[in-house]
Amino acid sequence: MNTALSFSIAALAGLATWSFTEYCMHRFLGHACKGRNHFSREHLAHHTDPGYFAPTWQKALFGLACVLTIVGVGQALLGFAIALSYASGFGLSYGFYEWLHRRIHTHAPRNWYGKMVRKHHLSHHFTDARQCHGVTSRVWDRVFGTHRPVDKVRVPRKLATQWMVTDGGEMIENFSQSYVLVGRKR
Ligand SMILES: [Zn+2]
Ligand SMILES: [Zn+2]
Repeated sequence: MNTALSFSIAALAGLATWSFTEYCMHRFLGHACKGRNHFSREHLAHHTDPGYFAPTWQKALFGLACVLTIVGVGQALLGFAIALSYASGFGLSYGFYEWLHRRIHTHAPRNWYGKMVRKHHLSHHFTDARQCHGVTSRVWDRVFGTHRPVDKVRVPRKLATQWMVTDGGEMIENFSQSYVLVGRKR
């Protein structure tokens, strides 16, 4: 097989591995462990306050440890270059996940993908935390039967993300097809 193709396939495999890891970490390590590990406690704190995110240095350290471990183990099995390509696919998609998760909570969607991932993730936050574990995609939720589409996500007024409400705290018309505010005004 030509070298560039091998590297591309390895990078795509790394991306797919992160995607699956993202689902499993969130569902099993985050929610099923109910606060019995550090990741779970940080994640549940994010559910209590969706504006809270674990410190960036912890996320960077986790990403770096994964990449170095993958390269370390992978080079013995597949050679350094393939292991590095695989680790790059994994590491870059992990970085994209962290960036996207924060953007979901802080910035309005700008395209079909942005709308889709926001509705999916905010449904996880506000409809049922046992469903919709994927953040960058819905693929694994479909595979494992945890995809629960809702017509409109019922967002508690006090937890509404800034981008979906006006200064007066009302739902912006553009987003009213996917979200509805519930609960009393402050
Ligand atoms: Zn979130
Ligand atoms: Zn969660």
